[in-house]
Amino acid sequence: MLEVIIVGGGASGLLCGIESVKRGKQCLIIEQKEKVGKKLYATGNGKCNFANRVVEKSCYHTVSSEDANRIGSFVNDQLCKEIEQYFLELGIPVYERQGYLYPRSEQAAIVVRALEDAFTAKGGKIHCDESVQYVKANSDGTFCVGTDKSIYETKQVVLATGGAASPKLGSDGRGYSFAKSLGHTVTPCVPSLCGVKCKAAGWNRLQGVRAKGRVEAWIGNKKLAEDVGEIQFTQYGISGIVVFNLSRYAALGLLENKKVVFRLDLLPDYSENELVSLLQNMQKTCGYQSICHVLSGFLPDKLAVYLLKDSRIVNDINDSLSIKALSISQLQQIASACKGLSLKITETNSFEQAQVTAGGVPLKEINPDTMESKKVPGCYLVGELLDVDGICGGYNLMWAWETGRRAGQNL
Ligand SMILES: Cc1cc2nc3c(=O)[nH]c(=O)nc-3n(C[C@H](O)[C@H](O)[C@H](O)COP(=O)(O)OP(=O)(O)OC[C@H]3O[C@@H](n4cnc5c(N)ncnc54)[C@H](O)[C@@H]3O)c2cc1C
Repeated sequence: MLEVIIVGGGASGLLCGIESVKRGKQCLIIEQKEKVGKKLYATGNGKCNFANRVVEKSCYHTVSSEDANRIGSFVNDQLCKEIEQYFLELGIPVYERQGYLYPRSEQAAIVVRALEDAFTAKGGKIHCDESVQYVKANSDGTFCVGTDKSIYETKQVVLATGGAASPKLGSDGRGYSFAKSLGHTVTPCVPSLCGVKCKAAGWNRLQGVRAKGRVEAWIGNKKLAEDVGEIQFTQYGISGIVVFNLSRYAALGLLENKKVVFRLDLLPDYSENELVSLLQNMQKTCGYQSICHVLSGFLPDKLAVYLLKDSRIVNDINDSLSIKALSISQLQQIASACKGLSLKITETNSFEQAQVTAGGVPLKEINPDTMESKKVPGCYLVGELLDVDGICGGYNLMWAWETGRRAGQNL
């Protein structure tokens, strides 16, 4: 009989393993991919943005509204400092850029190696290329873990399987069925931190354009969230960190068959009135310029052309008309096109392209101090498998580290 089996050698499983072997536990990590931490290698574009110095409750979301205020028991001012110190003690000096933390060498591989070494140095065992098929609770409080290679008996089990995002990196959503088979519930799960799709005439012209702006997510008739940053225009729709951060709302709205609209303010630094008077002034100072050329002074060329030609917000304006030929109401139309481009979102990208899963096992079903299941004593749930998703910036890994640490210290 083993003491601890951790199902999944990702961020949360490795940290949980390190903490448990430090306490002298005999611990086995079972990982279905050929190596542990496969997703970690891909994080932060291979640089691993493992934490963030600015941590607030608003950086995290839950699908279950009941769980929203449970986030508070995980998030505090010390969290980032503790993780930074922990990484330093593992031999990973840190580099900070605008609050985002990376390993000094900017190599995610260093993080995986350091975690793996810390675990195995204290006697932790890892079985790679072995896939867990089921986890059963025995009547005596122990567990039976069946894999494609063997059957194990263990006193305690940790579900660290991740969610359903990026299945090619290992987390294929099977963790939810293990949790369910043990008596847990699972909220609806949708892709998050991904691009969103829209269908609009002339859109393909915008592929590759990047513009700074504000994006609002309107679900039904309610604005649920907004974010400011760089919007990337793609062949299928829009992407970029600001869109990633709002994608969960789109995915959840679409799941409920609600109308989902992303409203883009492409010139958030001007009010509509300011913009109109600026354009009016330009009619006087450079009235000989075409409206398209003037607008390209504010926005990337292709976006200016799109707004004038295809957006259908601006009617009857020939983009080669000189600015001085435009009436005040036409200038107003142009200003409102720049400040309120509404895109009907038809789909989000799938789990294949998403960085995280929104939804999972509700926090109310675990003890937040220890991560132990309230339904099955001896079973612990950590990381993305739980109903918590963070915004971009290192928050999802912070969640994985912190929940892994709590479980590992309480096994
Ligand atoms: C491309 C990409 C970039 C990202 N960048 C960042 C970033 O820069 N910063 C950030 O904070 N977050 C980032 N994330 C999110 C972050 O990586 C995850 O939230 C985090 O890794 C979740 O940790 P976890 O331990 O819960 O799950 P995972 O890291 O997904 O680990 C779960 C492990 O369990 C294994 N497993 C699953 N089922 C089984 C089974 N049945 N048997 C055996 N093993 C199993 C999987 O193979 C996997 O190795 C990124 C995600 C992606 C996809």
